[in-house]
Amino acid sequence: MSNKHLGHTARKRFGQNFLHDPFVIDKIVSAIGPKNGENLVEIGPGLGALTEPVAELVDDLTVVELDRDLAKRLRSHPFIQDKLNVVEQDALKFDFSSMVDGNQKLRVFGNLPYNISTPLMFHLFKFCNHIQDMHFMLQLEVVKRLCATHGDKLYGRLSVMAQYYCKAVPVVMVPPTAFKPAPKVDSAVVRLIPHKQPIVDLHCIDTLQQVVTSAFNQRRKTIRNSLKNLLDEQQITTLDIDPSFRAEKLSLADFAALANAVFENIN
Ligand code: SAM
Repeated sequence: MSNKHLGHTARKRFGQNFLHDPFVIDKIVSAIGPKNGENLVEIGPGLGALTEPVAELVDDLTVVELDRDLAKRLRSHPFIQDKLNVVEQDALKFDFSSMVDGNQKLRVFGNLPYNISTPLMFHLFKFCNHIQDMHFMLQLEVVKRLCATHGDKLYGRLSVMAQYYCKAVPVVMVPPTAFKPAPKVDSAVVRLIPHKQPIVDLHCIDTLQQVVTSAFNQRRKTIRNSLKNLLDEQQITTLDIDPSFRAEKLSLADFAALANAVFENIN
């Protein structure tokens, strides 16, 4: 199948799979529900599959696009160029707080380049207190990981860290045929809503990250073993957590308690 769509050859290195199915596009835009006056930011607008219908509903829309040719195309878009603020930048390095206007939080959305979707979400989590919500097209498996709870097969580092910051809900399922070129995997749109207040008591996010990474890097091991450089068995037991459990059995609250104990050990 040709990788050309609307006169542009899709670039694999930029994770370009363009949406072309009007039914799917409509469902995604309805799920986002953009309203005039909101502070909307799209990541990776590409050829404008989501940009155009969203821009029809609002007066202003900021888009962050790394591909110079696509950014140029959007700046001279025949119908919506006046509504667009085109930021030609790497979204992984973009300071999303720079878009915040007064008290109005951001509504971020995009059909993300799959090759960088996880680091991109981790980058965005840092700005969660400036964000009202996010809607992202991702590989279905990544959406399942984001939404998985302890005990689920796909529960892992991404589930714990994402759920520390946000509530995650799948909203639209998308087949490969909705894209050009078609990806090899199923996709889905997830809605991520940052918590207004922390849902667990946590002293230090870096320590949570360290504990979660250590526990899931050796996910077949019991936490007695995978965390042995950070906590001794006695300390784990004191927290009412069974040291013979594997990481997949621990809730976010358990990980936060373990991280707080590690933090207190160090400080
Ligand atoms: N939104 C369009 C659509 O749905 O058809 C395009 C989606 S395509 C999967 C991903 C888009 O993200 C492409 O336009 C690509 O050039 C852009 N992109 C890739 N890496 C990026 C990055 N680091 N920062 C910003 N945009 C990026």
